[in-house]
Amino acid sequence: MTNPLDELVQATPAKKKSKKLSAREVGCAFCPLNKVPGIKKVKGTVEGKEIFIWGMAPGPEENKEGREFVGRSGRLLWDELKIVGITRDMCDIQNVVRCFPADYNDTEWPPLTMRDPTPEEIHCCSIFTKQAIEFHQAKVHLIFGAVAAKALLGVEYKKGKKSFWSDKLNAHVMCLYHPSFFIRQGYGGKVPQAPNSFYKQWRADFKHAASLLLSKGQFSYIE
Ligand code: URA
Repeated sequence: MTNPLDELVQATPAKKKSKKLSAREVGCAFCPLNKVPGIKKVKGTVEGKEIFIWGMAPGPEENKEGREFVGRSGRLLWDELKIVGITRDMCDIQNVVRCFPADYNDTEWPPLTMRDPTPEEIHCCSIFTKQAIEFHQAKVHLIFGAVAAKALLGVEYKKGKKSFWSDKLNAHVMCLYHPSFFIRQGYGGKVPQAPNSFYKQWRADFKHAASLLLSKGQFSYIE
């Protein structure tokens, strides 16, 4: 089966031209999102949890609440992870872009319109991504969507490569469908649809992630 990760980058393509910044031009001071009214930083903390959850960027609900994965995608994600015994308190959580990627127009309501983060915004936020990589203790990283996977793994990212050991993260990684992909298909809503093969596979991947944490060998720290 082809890995449809690349189809999962669903947000509206960024309209703005992305500026090419040097390796030293990183951090909020260089980031265009830092200047947009109504956008909060959703930065979380890295506490050395055994599982690391990576997303692309906060959505409107995360921007309101100041926490990652609390909107519709988050609710679906945590519901599914709970089934395999993984709960929020077991996870460190970060987005590769820590501000709601949105354009501001005060003649419209709501004035913020979500879009994909630009390469410039991903680059600026990479300073926090690097810190997270430095301080994490996770044995398994679950990476949701191709934007996050590319930003995090760099040359280790390969389309179609789903579950593998990452030397960069010194941990096992799983590159998975973003939950918003299933939200768009009606999953996690009030009227559940019959699971399709992608959704079944997603659930099986979560089972596999849980088994990685429990299995012996490379993941024998849980006895
Ligand atoms: N989607 C993400 O990628 N991250 C969040 O925190 C919320 C939605």
